[in-house]
Amino acid sequence: MTPINLTILGATGTIGVNTLDVVARHPERFSIVALTGATQLDKLAEQCRQFRPRYAVVMDAERAATLKTLLAGLDIEVRWGVEALEEVSALPEVDSVMAAIVGAAGLRPAMAAARAGKRILLANKETLVMAGHFFMEAVKAGGASLLPIDSEHNAVFQSMPAGYDGNLAGHGVRRILLTASGGPFRSRAVETLAAVTPEEAVAHPTWVMGKKISVDSATMMNKGLEVIEARWLFNARPEQIEVVIHPQSIIHSMVEYLDGSVLAQLYTPDMRTPIAHSLAYPERVAAGVPWLDLAKIGTLTFEAPDFQRFPCLKLAYQALATGGAAPAILNAANEEAVAAFLDHRIPYLAISETLSTVLARLHDRPAGNLEELEAVDAEARNIAQALIAAL
Ligand code: NAD
Ligand code: MG
Repeated sequence: MTPINLTILGATGTIGVNTLDVVARHPERFSIVALTGATQLDKLAEQCRQFRPRYAVVMDAERAATLKTLLAGLDIEVRWGVEALEEVSALPEVDSVMAAIVGAAGLRPAMAAARAGKRILLANKETLVMAGHFFMEAVKAGGASLLPIDSEHNAVFQSMPAGYDGNLAGHGVRRILLTASGGPFRSRAVETLAAVTPEEAVAHPTWVMGKKISVDSATMMNKGLEVIEARWLFNARPEQIEVVIHPQSIIHSMVEYLDGSVLAQLYTPDMRTPIAHSLAYPERVAAGVPWLDLAKIGTLTFEAPDFQRFPCLKLAYQALATGGAAPAILNAANEEAVAAFLDHRIPYLAISETLSTVLARLHDRPAGNLEELEAVDAEARNIAQALIAAL
């Protein structure tokens, strides 16, 4: 069997670690060309010793020097910076790129993989939120292919007809139903939300994830970002994407057809299932995930999302309807607000307030190319930071 050659962007994060866990179960199938991380050098060095990539990439020159020392004696080239991330995403010997950097930092390397025609396993939803139009164009122009890692979108992908080409009506699809756990504050009294701490916000009831996406799940901004992600991945209109709260996180999303059929995808909540699906696609490989025991689970419940409790979800639908630069503005302001909340610099409710103000100020900025989007991203961050500093 010729192994699939992989670059893993964000190898030290939760998605990266889960990816390497699946890879380690199938050493004959996968071979690692490059691993990247930002700051966790000991962890990256340990991964390099185990998986022996050709390249390792970190944030800056200083960290690269440290990693080089940690990897002394191994035949691994240590590089640093955005250009290096782009290069290891586009190397001729690479087949698939796991795009698992968090936030807007993931955009450029994902674009490089798209232009180079790679199979992209896309965890970094921020790429599609910021620049969905340009990214999808680059995928097409570069002859790349896209497999969603986000559990909801992976479930939708699996529930769509084989060979889905972006034409929902042509395939008899009526709606996409994205499930959401509702996060840790689904049933907490609304009056007490003002006092929520970062520790409470990152304690997700059903998933273990990075801090940023955990806060996004608590505010339901994550689901908002996922609605925008679904719009681009499946070429769906906003009204064709519905969110339903399903606290058990067993059904990972659904596709409803014109004849009333609803196809769903289920598994024990563990990201190794969508990761294994995308790594081996169209084959299937073991992921190490506990088998689903429906009798033991007993009850699956559903409810409609409460937009008052979760104003971020509403803001995301609004940004999608506004279009242009609005989703990129929302994404940038959200990254700043979440970082400030995690640092105890702003209270929980100030997250949505910050986003709302930044969106209102900047919504009509141009979004004609990637550079304009990056400029508006920077502008949104500046305004968000000023608002945060003034709180
Ligand atoms: P994480 O915080 O655990 O890991 C992030 C990774 O990105 C780390 O390897 C880190 O070193 C790297 N990174 C951070 N900033 C960087 C920068 N400026 N430049 C280069 N690398 C940088 O995050 P995660 O939970 O693994 O999530 C990664 C992505 O996957 C996010 O976009 C998230 O929305 C998405 N996602 C995650 C999950 C999940 O279950 N964790 C599920 C669906 C989607
Ligand atoms: Mg998700």
